[in-house]
Amino acid sequence: MESKGLILWLTGLSGSGKTTIAKGVERELRERSCLVELLDGDVVRTNLSKGLGFSREDRDTNIRRIGFVANLLSRNGVVAIIAAISPYRAARDEIRRMTQNFIEVYINAPLEVCEARDVKGLYAMARAGEVRAFTGIDDPYEEPLNADIVCYTSEESVEESIAKVVAELERLNYIPPKPQVEYSI
Ligand code: ADP
Repeated sequence: MESKGLILWLTGLSGSGKTTIAKGVERELRERSCLVELLDGDVVRTNLSKGLGFSREDRDTNIRRIGFVANLLSRNGVVAIIAAISPYRAARDEIRRMTQNFIEVYINAPLEVCEARDVKGLYAMARAGEVRAFTGIDDPYEEPLNADIVCYTSEESVEESIAKVVAELERLNYIPPKPQVEYSI
């Protein structure tokens, strides 16, 4: 069985673990010979969405662009993994409506935990007023109401979170089971 195309949409606060889990899932899927492409919000903002800011309008445009590309990929059999804060519910739901196979993964960690991790030093800058409209601080994050998968990254290990996502894709028959290593004597 080959993989079926789908959009695996990881949403959550900055520092919640989207990139880490996305990369892990990508690695697991490649091991199963799936076609996979990763669209990371930070990377997209340096090319496809270069020049866009963090106003509501710009954030929506960014998400629409990512959704457009993800849709092209997924309808051609690729597992398109998206790692983007995508804070607005309406924008995420818009992508869900326009596409066939959309799996929403809520990468859930309390703000305090994300802020303590401060992977990119942005929370400190936001608290100091050096970054404006930062999600979770002075811009809203609208939690998914019906996420297909939820990873609680303050309670799970990285490997547990990755395994949870992969297991669900397997259960839904999007991806083949992990090939068994055969030993011969
Ligand atoms: P984001 O892409 O959401 O901004 P990152 O993936 O860059 O977040 O950073 C998340 C941080 O949280 C990493 O340092 C990672 O090692 C840590 N972490 C701890 N537990 C988990 C988990 N279960 N899943 C993902 N990341 C985790």
